[in-house]
Amino acid sequence: MSSILLFLFGLVFGSFGYVLALRYDGDHFLLNPKVVGGRSYCPHCMATLRWYALIPVVSFIIQGGQCRNCKARISFAYPLIELFSGFLFVAIGARVQAFYGIAGGGFWTLTVLWIAFFFALALLSVIDIRLGIIPNEISIFLTAVAILLVGFSASYFGSANVSFFGPYASVFGIQENIWSSHIMGAVAGFLFFAGLVAFTRGKGMGIGDVKLAFPLGFLFGWPDIIFLSGAAFVSGAAIGLLFIALKKKTIKSTLPFGPFLALGAVFVFFFGSGLMGWYIHMMGL
Ligand SMILES: [Zn+2]
Repeated sequence: MSSILLFLFGLVFGSFGYVLALRYDGDHFLLNPKVVGGRSYCPHCMATLRWYALIPVVSFIIQGGQCRNCKARISFAYPLIELFSGFLFVAIGARVQAFYGIAGGGFWTLTVLWIAFFFALALLSVIDIRLGIIPNEISIFLTAVAILLVGFSASYFGSANVSFFGPYASVFGIQENIWSSHIMGAVAGFLFFAGLVAFTRGKGMGIGDVKLAFPLGFLFGWPDIIFLSGAAFVSGAAIGLLFIALKKKTIKSTLPFGPFLALGAVFVFFFGSGLMGWYIHMMGL
């Protein structure tokens, strides 16, 4: 039951989020009334969309992927992103259940907060790819959600720190207390990326990445932020090399880094404990 609910919410929020990310211009507030309140329209002929053209995935199929008014092709990105968002919401719910092992109000509180966090990460990823910037309002929102999540964890599970790498986190000097671990994570993330920007004189990372590293570090804490950053660099390097091989980019051009930090967060949240267990097993520790 909760999975169906999460899937439907995922479809709707995916649809809303993608339009928001496409309309954001970098100058106005992300949730400004003109963007959020305005009726949806066909980007080709500007015709206002009727309600039956606004149902995620279903409308696309019924209309055969075309605008009813001007017959312009509607991008496959819309239904794909809506479906991806639906499955992501379900996966987050399943992961919260498996990781925290709780039901009822506690489950829903944690699930909604984690969904809000990953939704904002997905939003900033599309915006960073489009415009090469990470809106400040998203980093502030992420910080607020991170504080709520850590605060709720502390009140619900007590002050012992919870790492996505489980007991293995102690190998990296885990902080016993949840607040010291998460404050240390935020400071470490912020200082590391600020150092990188200063060292490369802003040619690789931007200030937006530094501001994003703070809520990521706060939410994931120490030592999880190390693995999150590591996964971001590995995936960023892999995609960068792929683009160079495909001759889409040169070695000098830069990729937006926000999406890779988001990927790192997805990686730690979903696969952190499993991967660490496998690695320790392989090393025979
Ligand atoms: Zn049209």
